[in-house]
Amino acid sequence: MTKQTDCPFRTGQGYDVHRLTDGRKLILGGVDIPYEKGLLGHSDADVCTHALMDAMLGAAGLGDIGLHFPDSDPAYKDISSLKLLEKVKDLVAAEGFVLVNADITIVAQAPKLRPFIPSIEEKLAKTLEVNVSQINVKATTEEGLGFTGTGEGISTFAVCLLVKDSRG
Ligand code: MG
Repeated sequence: MTKQTDCPFRTGQGYDVHRLTDGRKLILGGVDIPYEKGLLGHSDADVCTHALMDAMLGAAGLGDIGLHFPDSDPAYKDISSLKLLEKVKDLVAAEGFVLVNADITIVAQAPKLRPFIPSIEEKLAKTLEVNVSQINVKATTEEGLGFTGTGEGISTFAVCLLVKDSRG
């Protein structure tokens, strides 16, 4: 027999990678970032938003974004990932969960992301209908090492905490 827990808190983690390529926009957290390359993918390839969505789905026990938004589905071709994040917000809310906070680390050798971080935090918070203080975004390089270091791609790690809404 499995044990039930009454703990209202659930953590989740997400990780995503997309390849950098010519002729694509670089979209991170819904923000269009000026750069010579962009991320390759079926949607807008917003690696930051994808990692956050996976963290939220994981915390709610709802699988992952591949399950909910398969990249074989033409409906998601070039779609803004913020639209998908909005759907994730609804899926998580339907299970009675509210986001406490999310912490996101974008790993990119270039471009420098610091100037864009406040805009990314605002976009994500607005989409999730939470206070901007609940969303923290960090950026780091991997010191020239690995696929992010050589500029082949950008990755993102995200963790979040959800709480079961006792009013629900
Ligand atoms: Mg992705």
